[in-house]
Amino acid sequence: MLMGDSIDEECDYLFKAVLIGDSGVGKSNLLSRFSKDEFRLDSKPTIGVEFAYRNIKVADKLVKAQIWDTAGQERFRAITSSYYRGALGAILVYDISARQSFENVRNWLRELREFGNSDMVIVLVGNKSDLSQSRQVEEEEGKSLAEAEGLCFMETSALENVNVEQVFLDMVYKIHEITRQKIL
Ligand code: GDP
Repeated sequence: MLMGDSIDEECDYLFKAVLIGDSGVGKSNLLSRFSKDEFRLDSKPTIGVEFAYRNIKVADKLVKAQIWDTAGQERFRAITSSYYRGALGAILVYDISARQSFENVRNWLRELREFGNSDMVIVLVGNKSDLSQSRQVEEEEGKSLAEAEGLCFMETSALENVNVEQVFLDMVYKIHEITRQKIL
């Protein structure tokens, strides 16, 4: 589906979520793994991001999730407030085999809290769980950081397709829950 299409017609509502984290942690692989055949990756070169849509049935509603990826812009610290604007969810990714990407999670969180919605659903993801031989961040560390910061947490492997679906779906369900409470 292209950006210009009338995307709202066939779903009950649409929301935006963003992928963030250091370069090389696996963001675009997570998104393309999640997209499978059901997704179509589109890009909007003018703002240097890529995004994908997916329709997800939650209770009796059809929700269209629009997931934004940085398309490598984070490398140049070129992520701007427009990237976060209107996002109801964020998937903050680090690489369990790269300590520095975990250390940088706090910087990404600071940026998220500065530019993002205050009630944004944030999922912390330790990707590349298949690389157990070169693990530099223990699962417990990810878990306790998430607990301390009030985030959801999961380890994933985009390569082996472990927990990828779960991460995106959990985020969608949580966003749906928050949105529903606001409407009621
Ligand atoms: P991005 O810069 O965050 O979008 O990262 P990419 O998705 O481009 O991935 C960076 C590199 O990590 C690529 O060489 C991927 O093949 C590799 N990669 C991504 N996810 C995994 C994973 O779950 N396991 C392993 N072993 N490699 C991965």
